[in-house]
Parts: sequence; C-alpha cells; structure tokens
Amino acid sequence: MTTDSGYKGYRGDALETLRKFDAKIWSDVQVSTTQGTYTGIILPRSETADPHHIVLKLRSGYNIGIAAQAVRTITIAGRKEAHYKIPEKEFPFDPRKPRVKLFGTGGTIASRLDYRTGAVIPAFSPGELYGSVPELADICNLETEKLYGVFSENMGPEQWIGTARAIGQEIQKGVQGIVVGHGTDTMHHTAAILSFMVQHSPVPIVMVGSQRSSDRPSSDAALNLMHSVKTAAESDIAEVMICMFGPTSDAYGLLHRGTRVRKMHSSYRSTFRTIGDIPIGMVSRSAITPLRQDYARRREDRNVVVNTAFEEKVSIVYYYPNMRPDIIDALIDNGYRGIVIAGTGLGHVNKPLYPSLKRAHEKGIAVYMTVQTLWGYVQMYVYDTGRDMMELGVVPSANMLPEVAYMKLCWALGQKTDLEDVRKIMLTPIAGEITEREPSNGYLIFQGGIPEVEEFISKYRK
Ligand code: ASP
Repeated sequence: MTTDSGYKGYRGDALETLRKFDAKIWSDVQVSTTQGTYTGIILPRSETADPHHIVLKLRSGYNIGIAAQAVRTITIAGRKEAHYKIPEKEFPFDPRKPRVKLFGTGGTIASRLDYRTGAVIPAFSPGELYGSVPELADICNLETEKLYGVFSENMGPEQWIGTARAIGQEIQKGVQGIVVGHGTDTMHHTAAILSFMVQHSPVPIVMVGSQRSSDRPSSDAALNLMHSVKTAAESDIAEVMICMFGPTSDAYGLLHRGTRVRKMHSSYRSTFRTIGDIPIGMVSRSAITPLRQDYARRREDRNVVVNTAFEEKVSIVYYYPNMRPDIIDALIDNGYRGIVIAGTGLGHVNKPLYPSLKRAHEKGIAVYMTVQTLWGYVQMYVYDTGRDMMELGVVPSANMLPEVAYMKLCWALGQKTDLEDVRKIMLTPIAGEITEREPSNGYLIFQGGIPEVEEFISKYRK
C-alpha cells in the first residue's frame, strides 16, 4: 500500500478524488456531494479503513465519512493542521493546598485524536492533563496515575479490584480526595462496585468522564475534570460519586450517588441522571452545593475498609415477552451462581420460565428480581404471579437498579456461599442502593432543566 505523505492513510478511489482536487489532509474545504455540501477539515485516514471514504471534521466537531463516489467538487479555503499533542507541564506544588489523587482508567476523557489512525485513542499523562486544564493547580496538588487505558466496555473484575485497592492505598497514605477518570459507558457499573468494595471512606471518591474528547470544541472534559477535582479537594461528601454535566448548558455539574446513577443518553453531555432519588449535590467552578443532607461526611481518620470479593459467575437477564426457559437453563448448566432479572413492571417474567427458575433455586443459584422501569420498587405481592415466583425462590430487590443489583450480587457471592447470608448482604443497604421511599419530586427536579422540554411544556401550560 502506497500513499502520498500529503494524503496520509488514503488509498483507492478516496485517494484519487482527493488528488483530483489537490485536497491534501488538514485542508479546510467545502465538499459538494450528491447528498449536500459539507464544510470542514480533511482528516488523516486510518490505514486499516476502507478506500472509499474521505473523513471530514465538521465545524461542530463531529467527524463524518463522505463516499468518494458522491463527491462533485472540493473547494479549498485554507489549511489547518491540528496539534492534538498537548504540551507537558509539571504540576506545581503548593503546601497550603489539599492533595488529590487522580487515577486514570481510560475512556474518552483520557483520549485524543490519533494521527496514525484518525480515530480517538486512550492516552493519559499527568503533564498533558495539566497542560490542557491549568486551572486544576488553583484547586489542589494533583498527583496522577494511569491504572489502565481502556474504553469502559473493557472494564472487568481485574480493573475493578485493582482500582478499589489503589484507592484504599492512596487514602491510607493521606490524600484528601480521589478522582477516577473513566469511560462513561459503564461508569455507573464501576461506581456501584466501588461503593461496595470501598466502604467507610474518610474522603470523597469522585468518578468522572467526558462524552466528547478534548480535541472537540464542545468537549465536556475540562469542565467535568475541574468540577470533580474541586469536589474531591473541597467537599465534605465522603462517598463514591459520579460528577458529570448537569443541564445541557455548562452551568453546573451534578454529584450523583454511586449506587443510584445511570448513563441515560448515548450522546448528550448531561447523560448521567440520579434514578429514584435526587442527586447529592451540585458543583460549579465557585461552589459545591449539597441538595440533601443525608450523606457520609469527610473525616480525618484513615479507617477505610476495602473488600474486593467478587464472583464472576453472575448474569443479568433482561426479560422480554416470549423469552424461552432455555436462557435460564443455559445459565444453570454453565455453573452460574447468581442471576439478576430485570423484569417487567413490578417485577414479572412469563410462566414458561417458572420451572427453570425453580430448578435454579434447587441448584442453589441466587435469583434476584429488579425492574426494567428503573424508577420504582419491585412489588411481588400485588399479583399472584409475583407470589408464585417468590415461592420459587426469586428474591425481590426493592429499588436497587439492575446493574447495581448485579454488582452487589457478584460482591456478595464472592464472600458467602450460604444463600441466607447472601440475601442478608443483598437486602441490607450499604451505600444508598436501596432507599425507603423515592421522593415524588426526585423524578423531575434537579436533573438539569432541559431548555427544549421547558419550551415545549410552556406552550401547553395555562
Ligand atoms: N466508549 C467510551 C467509554 O465508555 C465512551 C466515553 O468515555 O464516554 O470508554
């Protein structure tokens, strides 16, 4: 494969088209196609990508692929070579400021555009971080450590246990707060397991990520980072939290309890929402404002408890109408020790599953019910079908979110074999994963006013 240096990565008809218009990479162009006209910068192409598309970085920050065949003309307005490498700077030390440790695990927040492939890759270095967000030095003395460099779908027990241990050690060494940079996709899973593995923390443990990488104009990376570092350094909330964009604007960030939070939108920056409750607090550049008072307070001692027990043979079964019992049978026959069901409504599955659920129970498998609705409680006393299922050994899990129940069951089965002991752990709230009631205003308020919704509703409100 040969490609001209000015057309890095391009080949085939994509290369031919670019050559025809003398449009080299980093050219600021207007591309007129059979589908419409696009304005942006021609990016280098991945060497492993197909030979038919030209990649353009639009003004909005999004990258699009344009089929070479569809191109009519390319007009060149100029050239804008991007330098995504951020200069390394040593983080300054100020003895009057609190010490915060930032662990990196990967995700978009630790990413930048890679020259070679034109794709976003995980890259994390403390110097780069300070170089890109110098305001962090006004808040604290930041120490950084890259634990992993993975997109968060690749997180697993090894990384969860490693992160929990690293947090425990840092707390014992005396830091005033912890920040964990993480991919957003599964950040709520990690927040849940850390809430169980790291208990009685004397300091805030703040997870943070970003939906848009820092080379994009609309990136939320810097603001989320500042908010999370401020929370870790200054807040008196000694819990595992997720700190991310609150509303669609950058007015404030929200602090969500680690066991009551979920990623709810695939691309909005305001994707994390507290479910079944209101967030613990909000944070801006100038203040941390608690929205409730029932949180664990910061302490001076170092008596953190780390328990990294974990059983991997646990699964979540997301029930759908017409599910066949062979799904449950497969788990039984493959030696699974725990099953969390996300049932419909108050916690239902169809009758054909009952014999298999009974068999699971007889084999000593722990089966827990949660709800797909996410908001609200499992209620298995309302219908006789629910009562039947409880007789089969299915345990209702109150208002624990499915992913949280999954993580807790992995943790509980990692410690106990007796199902009564497991049940005791599962149903005793440890970190807010089960609450006595869901506040009626929690469904709507403090979730960040979305202007589009307000505008729509105001048209109908008398
Ligand atoms: N896929 C990425 C991840 O979860 C997305 C992100 O970081 O926002 O690692």
